[in-house]
Amino acid sequence: MDTLIVGGGPAGAAAAIGLARGGRSPLILERQREGADALCGGFLSWTTIAALERLGVPVEGLGGHRIDRMKMFAGHRTACARLPAPAMGISRQRLDACLLARAELEGAAVERGVAASHFDDGGITTADGALLRFDRMVLATGKHELRGLARPAAEGDRMVGLRWRLAASPRLLEMLAHTIEIHCFRGGYAGLVMQEETANLCLAVSRRRLAEEGTPDALLLALSRECPALEGRLSASSGLGERQAIANMPYGWRARSSLPHVYRIGDQAGVIPSLAGEGLAIALVSGARAARAILQGRAAETFQPRLARHLRRPIGVAGAIADLACRPGGARTIVALAGMSPAIPNLAARLARVRPA
Ligand SMILES: Cc1cc2nc3c(=O)[nH]c(=O)nc-3n(C[C@H](O)[C@H](O)[C@H](O)COP(=O)(O)OP(=O)(O)OC[C@H]3O[C@@H](n4cnc5c(N)ncnc54)[C@H](O)[C@@H]3O)c2cc1C
Repeated sequence: MDTLIVGGGPAGAAAAIGLARGGRSPLILERQREGADALCGGFLSWTTIAALERLGVPVEGLGGHRIDRMKMFAGHRTACARLPAPAMGISRQRLDACLLARAELEGAAVERGVAASHFDDGGITTADGALLRFDRMVLATGKHELRGLARPAAEGDRMVGLRWRLAASPRLLEMLAHTIEIHCFRGGYAGLVMQEETANLCLAVSRRRLAEEGTPDALLLALSRECPALEGRLSASSGLGERQAIANMPYGWRARSSLPHVYRIGDQAGVIPSLAGEGLAIALVSGARAARAILQGRAAETFQPRLARHLRRPIGVAGAIADLACRPGGARTIVALAGMSPAIPNLAARLARVRPA
């Protein structure tokens, strides 16, 4: 096999589209069957939208909610700023399905419901015991580790991702119209956007804070007392959906090297704090860069450090802002600065964006 892509999320699909357009026939292994809805804020930044358009995904046709402004909350303080360019809120279920369909249309093969179990010198072994050999492999398993190629364990007080869907009442729809909201609290932050018919509430929270509260539901209860604006949204909703969680996100990590023939992309190449809403852009841009490197015959050992340099600024800037946002004093400062001049959040939002492939 020429190129095996493990993981059919945004990064894997972007790599497949680039390779197929270059005349190759990549195979994607995706462990989920149709219909999976990855835990994510679902905020498509303007750089994500531009990357999707370059990949031939018609963004207007996705049916997302247009977002023009950001509201930020820290305790009783609020700031509102216009985004530098329009963004969008959409579920990962819809986005990922469109991207994979585009990859298939370009000529990539997709095997759904097939999980890679581990990697070694011989190749990839799937969960049902088949051994796959390849000339090169693109590692796009995102938030999930592949045995034999796992990222180093995150250090310090690691972050946990949590997500609830809120049933949208007319009042909640009005509050969230054209808006992404960021609610800062001690030990984390929450993003809230409309996606199709529901509102998506997605939290990044330190393990320490979660442990203090005991359970995710107890944390949400504590936050509804601590964050008046969030409490307003929760009580405007007509119901809370099922909760999803993901542990140990290595925010700030970048892959500076790789094994021969293994190209790491998306969250397997670098993990930007979710506050920036730029992980999807990084997934698409890094997938396109990997496809180009492979088509040009560039080795993985050259590709990986170059990609790490490309990601240094957005991941560094987002990391510094996210660290501040997780501390009550820091969050109040961010909101106060954003309230003084819209140029400040605008500059921060621009610096945390990834450049095109
Ligand atoms: C709490 C939270 C909120 C976020 N909010 C936003 C946001 O609003 N906007 C934004 O731009 N980014 C956001 N992000 C970041 C974004 O979700 C990721 O950066 C992005 O999903 C990375 O894409 P990917 O393709 O690398 O990985 P993923 O999206 O994780 O996709 C990986 C794919 O690989 C498959 N897979 C995994 N293991 C295997 C295996 N062994 N075999 C076969 N298939 C496998 C999975 O099923 C999945 O489909 C958020 C992240 C978190 C944690």
